[in-house]
Amino acid sequence: MSGKNPKLILLGAQGSGKGTQAELLCKAFDLEHISTGDLLRWHRQHHTKLGGKVGRIMAEGLLVPDEIIFGLLSERMNQHDWNFGLILDGFPRTVSQGEFLAENWNFDRVVYLDIPREVVLGRVLKRAEEMAAQGKRRDDDNEEALKVRLDEYYSKTEPLVSWYEAKGLLLRVDGTQSIEAVQADIRKGLGL
Ligand code: AMP
Repeated sequence: MSGKNPKLILLGAQGSGKGTQAELLCKAFDLEHISTGDLLRWHRQHHTKLGGKVGRIMAEGLLVPDEIIFGLLSERMNQHDWNFGLILDGFPRTVSQGEFLAENWNFDRVVYLDIPREVVLGRVLKRAEEMAAQGKRRDDDNEEALKVRLDEYYSKTEPLVSWYEAKGLLLRVDGTQSIEAVQADIRKGLGL
């Protein structure tokens, strides 16, 4: 991949450090950060019609239906402010979403933050506690919803790892390392 204007997908379970790594990369290389979770939360906060439709689904930790998420992503991508590079975070979450993405836009690489399932669970519960202590608990940060979100991840999203690997797009990074070491491995792997 050329170092210029990278178009990246970030893949990893909840608690894998996706958000943190995306932020660091975006700052360093002036990339757009497009997160479908953030787009959906914007609609919730602004009480839009779409926000009303997805509230319950999100609070339960389930995936929002494709017809809603495809429209939302297309609208965001059509803004074309990402021509100098972007990181897509939280999409795709299923192979059918991966197919939709591939039909519409070209991405250079998929960065996969690899961490064992037991580490994921520990991190996710710890983060939920920290957010609660700060009074910033999300609707979907209760234990039941977290469990559902993880089940959704392992049954529907993780198959994307081998799917992208087969296409030769995957960069696998050990996500159990420190934030700095993960960031360094990503940059090295991408030639940035
Ligand atoms: P996130 O912030 O990425 O963890 O997303 C929060 C919630 O938004 C998820 O638990 C889903 O309910 C919903 N969501 C975000 N991205 C997607 C997607 N690509 N497909 C379906 N649902 C999504």
